[in-house]
Amino acid sequence: MATATLSIDLDAIAANWRALDRLSAANVQTAAVVKADAYGLGAGRVARTLAQAGARRFFVAVAEEGAAVRQALGPGPQINILSGHMAGDTEMIHDLELTPMLNSLEQITRHLEALPGHDFGVQLDTGMNRLGVEPLEWQAVAPILIEAGPAMLMSHLACADEPDHAMNQIQLDNFHEMTDGTGLPRSFAATGGILLGPKYHFDLTRPGIGLYGGRPHDMAERVVTLSLPVIQSREVAPGESVGYSCGWEAEAPAVVATVAAGYADGLSRAISNNAVLWDGNIPCPLIGRVSMDLITVDVTHLAEVPKTLDILGPHQTVDDLGDAAGTIGYEILTSLGRRYTRRYQERRG
Ligand SMILES: *Cc1c(COP(=O)(O)O)cnc(C)c1O
Repeated sequence: MATATLSIDLDAIAANWRALDRLSAANVQTAAVVKADAYGLGAGRVARTLAQAGARRFFVAVAEEGAAVRQALGPGPQINILSGHMAGDTEMIHDLELTPMLNSLEQITRHLEALPGHDFGVQLDTGMNRLGVEPLEWQAVAPILIEAGPAMLMSHLACADEPDHAMNQIQLDNFHEMTDGTGLPRSFAATGGILLGPKYHFDLTRPGIGLYGGRPHDMAERVVTLSLPVIQSREVAPGESVGYSCGWEAEAPAVVATVAAGYADGLSRAISNNAVLWDGNIPCPLIGRVSMDLITVDVTHLAEVPKTLDILGPHQTVDDLGDAAGTIGYEILTSLGRRYTRRYQERRG
């Protein structure tokens, strides 16, 4: 086996979408967020799978990602651009029928002047202070804009992964205040918001991480397995060290396997001496520093040196690895390396 293999279970992604879809009422549509190349898993394959499962609306971060998804899906499904209508994107938005979520008065002006009559939505800032039209600006432009018929009004929650956080209710109240009575379709909830309950669902939900097997969607089916090939193994004697800066030292005779993946493949240096890989059901500690292309693993306790070791799989989720690296599952997924061979599994469909 030559390269590290990232197995992506497309059926699990479809099952996770259906499970999140079932959490909202029948009249609430469930979209799919496939930004950042579908959280590193391949936007084209993932979007086609979700379209087959029934998704009709997709969200990406920028127009270029929208172009890739349009190419994969063909005409029909709505592709929404969260960063809105940025300078230079007009032609792409027009030609590929992308729907920008306008975030500022500048974007609103740009869009209405450049592409009158072309679909758009409006992103409102309800308190996150990151992206979206501010309440006072909205008051000023809403009467004119609502006339132009936005496809959707949306906003984003800052603390949806913490159900008891006071910010959730504050943002919900602000969203109602800004959008009640407009008669326009509304979207408020990502994965965390879906789990907060029906008050947060409005007309369209926008799950991302919950499709890909990450927290806070704890019922999600596992989507990724990452198997890394063992290139070489050696015995080390007590007192010998392993890797850069002599980052690990043997206290007893040990067998060390050298595995072909490193921080250039998204395995953060922060997991040096602080993660496990798996030979089937047997945990094997990562020892020493993570190098650019290699990691070293203690396999002393195994009956024989395995051909591969798993760093993501049934015993270690993207969130487990995120915890070890001091980050979140989202960042583990979106850091998955370009060198991995991506193998797509589709059993049931
Ligand atoms: C990323 C993103 C989502 C999806 O969030 P998840 O937590 O991955 O479900 C939805 N809406 C907006 C505006 C986003 O930026």
